[in-house]
Amino acid sequence: MTPVEQRAPGRWQIGTVLSIKRETPRVKSFRISVPMWIEHLPGQHYEVRLTAPDGYRAQRSYSIASSPLDAGEIELTIDRIEDGEVSPYFDEVVREGDQVELRGPFTSYFVWRGESPALLVGGGSGVVPLMAMLRHRRRTMPELPMRLLHSVRTSDDVIYACELGHDAILTFTREPPAGWSGHTGRLDAPLVQQAARTFSDGVAFVCGSNGFVESAAGLLLEAGFAAIRVRTERFGPSG
Ligand SMILES: Cc1cc2nc3c(=O)[nH]c(=O)nc-3n(C[C@H](O)[C@H](O)[C@H](O)COP(=O)(O)OP(=O)(O)OC[C@H]3O[C@@H](n4cnc5c(N)ncnc54)[C@H](O)[C@@H]3O)c2cc1C
Repeated sequence: MTPVEQRAPGRWQIGTVLSIKRETPRVKSFRISVPMWIEHLPGQHYEVRLTAPDGYRAQRSYSIASSPLDAGEIELTIDRIEDGEVSPYFDEVVREGDQVELRGPFTSYFVWRGESPALLVGGGSGVVPLMAMLRHRRRTMPELPMRLLHSVRTSDDVIYACELGHDAILTFTREPPAGWSGHTGRLDAPLVQQAARTFSDGVAFVCGSNGFVESAAGLLLEAGFAAIRVRTERFGPSG
């Protein structure tokens, strides 16, 4: 009998960093070739593991930003958290050609399977899994109604800035760019109602810090979404 090799997501494997793109002063995107790649659903994540020379290990989850059409590779977008163990390592140390240990993709209920219409609500780096949904929809079903509502601090903090088009609504919570006539401040009921117009019979995906997700999910319910149609993913502490 021929042994069957165990494939991802269960098994740790070594990926190679193909390219690195600086998105914002704190955020970089890493294109990584994955030898045991298997097709993911937009919204899924990988686990990444660092091992120090003394054997100490740190493991973190990172959402996939790329479409599953990019066979054999994934893009991870990592926001540098000051004093963090893993994210500053990616920001400062990892270079093109480096090898990284990872496994995935991991299933969760936070996946987009083509449901429509779809409203995506992201705070800061919470936009990462939502970008996989936007990118995949643009390449497979561009006519499908999907809209991104993205909350960022300042104009320097807009991840994927050159890819955000008419299907994205931004709000700047701290400092908007010069001449900005759109929304400023945190998400509020009028903004969410505007974004949810004609979308509230669909599905909503909310991703960001704990506080952002709490507040955005509450506003979506007020805007007419059924609780069962609001899917959330939390990246960590409020911020
Ligand atoms: C399913 C899932 C998907 C994720 N996807 C992404 C992604 O695509 N991109 C990404 O950048 N991150 C993502 N994260 C967060 C990521 O896993 C790490 O938590 C983050 O990179 C911090 O790790 P660290 O080792 O640098 O910091 P740590 O050493 O874990 O923490 C250092 C300090 O920062 C605080 N902290 C930890 N996380 C955050 C945070 N998110 N905001 C503010 N303070 C924090 C901690 O409480 C601690 O005080 C995801 C998390 C989950 C659960």
